[in-house]
Amino acid sequence: MKKIALITLLTAVSLFAKVNVATTYAYLGKITEHIGGKYVHVDVLADPKRDPHFIVPRPSLIGKLRREDLLIINGGQLEIGWLPPLLKSANNPKIRVGQKGFLDVSGVIEMINKPQNVSRAYGDIHPGGNPHFGIDVHNVLPIAQLIALKLEQIDPAHADAYAKNLKNFQVQMQELITKLDAKMRPCRGKKVVEYHALYDYALRAYGLVRVGTIEPLPGITPSSRHTLQLINLMRAKGVKLILQDVYHEKKTARFIAEKTGAKVVILPHDVGSVPGSETLVKFYTMIAERLCR
Ligand SMILES: [Zn+2]
Repeated sequence: MKKIALITLLTAVSLFAKVNVATTYAYLGKITEHIGGKYVHVDVLADPKRDPHFIVPRPSLIGKLRREDLLIINGGQLEIGWLPPLLKSANNPKIRVGQKGFLDVSGVIEMINKPQNVSRAYGDIHPGGNPHFGIDVHNVLPIAQLIALKLEQIDPAHADAYAKNLKNFQVQMQELITKLDAKMRPCRGKKVVEYHALYDYALRAYGLVRVGTIEPLPGITPSSRHTLQLINLMRAKGVKLILQDVYHEKKTARFIAEKTGAKVVILPHDVGSVPGSETLVKFYTMIAERLCR
């Protein structure tokens, strides 16, 4: 009798227990929540207000990683500077690289700015190309499909629900994409400068032109020589917009704006980086609005 009760209890637990998922970044967490619905619990590791390349490895993150059934990462080496030691400390065999409970979404994205050869001449970060593809709303669709497949594999009991949620999400995202593409059309060809190569995928998708970066190379602090060259270039090309993120220093952008008459806009680099960007729709809408005012 006791045994039957225990088996019933265990079956009930496995049917109602949520899949514990960690995502490295907030945008991946939101996509996962849309697909997983009530069958998943999502923890986001990185604070969207901080530098995504270097997340502080707090002990609470290790505790979370110990409990997860699935870890979803951006990949493209964006997490290389902070995630490996956390995974080592958490020592959770389920979410090890290559295991069923590990998913790198960069596999469904064609990365841009790939260096011809790996060299420090390309800066300290992005040795394998630009990993900031989450900034482009068009990339949400292939990523969502990949996450749905993985959830179906991890939790086949709820595969139908994941497939249905994916369909609804695809419809919602396609509507947003169509709306934003139309909104951005008048801004094609607009020239901009950005601090770090955070926004390249969105610029490419909407046909904007990146004339330069405030950093001389990815991960390298601006020098006065590079700043003066950039000011001259911006004057020559008529650049009137500087894209600034929330976590780099802002005084260089302000100085350049003063010298060139360009405007500085703060853009979120992840869902929730700035107030009013807390959902996927708000995040991608804000990027489009601020790029094309
Ligand atoms: Zn970067």
